[in-house]
Amino acid sequence: MNSPYFSHGRSVVTRSGQRAAGSRPAGSMRSKLTNSLRTAAPGPSAALKVEAEEARVSEHRASPGGCHEHTDNLPLPSQSRRRQMKVEYDKDEVVSPVKTEQWEPLDWRKQLGLIHEMRSGRDAPVDNMGAEKCYDTEAPAHVKRFQVLVSLMLSSQTKDQVTAAAMQKLRAHGCTVENILNTDDETLGKLIYPVGFWRNKVKYLKLTSAMLRNEFGGDIPNSVEGLVHLPGVGPKMAHLAMSIAWDQVSGIGVDTHVHRISNRLGWLRKPTKSPEETRKALEEWLPRELWRETNWLLVGFGQQVCLPVNPLCSVCLNQHSCPSAHKNSPTKRPKAGLPRSPSPVSTWKIKTEPGNKSAVKDEMTNEGGAVPTPVSPTKQRRRRKTKVNG
Ligand code: SF4
Repeated sequence: MNSPYFSHGRSVVTRSGQRAAGSRPAGSMRSKLTNSLRTAAPGPSAALKVEAEEARVSEHRASPGGCHEHTDNLPLPSQSRRRQMKVEYDKDEVVSPVKTEQWEPLDWRKQLGLIHEMRSGRDAPVDNMGAEKCYDTEAPAHVKRFQVLVSLMLSSQTKDQVTAAAMQKLRAHGCTVENILNTDDETLGKLIYPVGFWRNKVKYLKLTSAMLRNEFGGDIPNSVEGLVHLPGVGPKMAHLAMSIAWDQVSGIGVDTHVHRISNRLGWLRKPTKSPEETRKALEEWLPRELWRETNWLLVGFGQQVCLPVNPLCSVCLNQHSCPSAHKNSPTKRPKAGLPRSPSPVSTWKIKTEPGNKSAVKDEMTNEGGAVPTPVSPTKQRRRRKTKVNG
């Protein structure tokens, strides 16, 4: 055993089956194999389980078709113990590959482009009476910002026309922080009536004006965090105020129109229940450079075409890709024999040509070839009876 080819630490088994001096027990070999494989593992996620098994004694000598390679120089079968290794990956510790692909709706770019086309006239109420149009352009910067905030506070649960009229009266009265604080509640109520929840809004206007004077030097806060702490100001108003008053994009202003349309178009990974939930879901995939336009684009679209009740799907350019098309529309299931709707593009062209009536009006009055609203069989029978009796 003085041969240089034998070294300590190796397991050597003699032909007689005795372990030679200096050889290690089987447990040491297992340990060594385990350690070496662990060392060679590609990373912590690929934990190796090494199982060393004692080899069974081969019986192939007895087998007639057995291996004939055994010679006297090789160990006997009972002595030819081979160490077998079984390498298994521990399933619990396997780390799934990092997902780099970001979810986005299938047709959103095309749908957004078509909404732009439908909004090209910029003739929705929000285009002329939204918060961007309600402040005094001649006023000092901090007063303009205050007026933007006031118009946003008044616009909640209120039509743009009503908000714009209230803002006109307030501005004529003097819509500044000091003036609001010096106006009694009754007068203020009369000025903003009939905006929705006008009594609460009188209280909020007073409290907010006091906070602005005492804590912000008469200006409005320049952060979403600061704005949402003001009484009567929620996340939608805060993001819109940041955009309109401070010219900063902090998030998407999601109101009831944006919330509804995003859900109808399938622009959310899963349906959402509140505007705030919708905002977060939209901001996950919508490119930031489109956040600013999203509010006015979808609000106007919601005011003119994708109405809360009975959306005008038959004139909507997205009717072929929208998963909600005709589900809530009065022309959902045209009866057999009724004329088919003209192509949406041609219908929309009727609207955009100067001098023609709007597609919205066409749909409502059945002018311009839109499909007439189906009449129920009961109503048809009643009409026939009336004719006969008449
Ligand atoms: S097809 Fe109908 S539901 Fe869909 S976006 Fe257009 S108007 Fe709205």
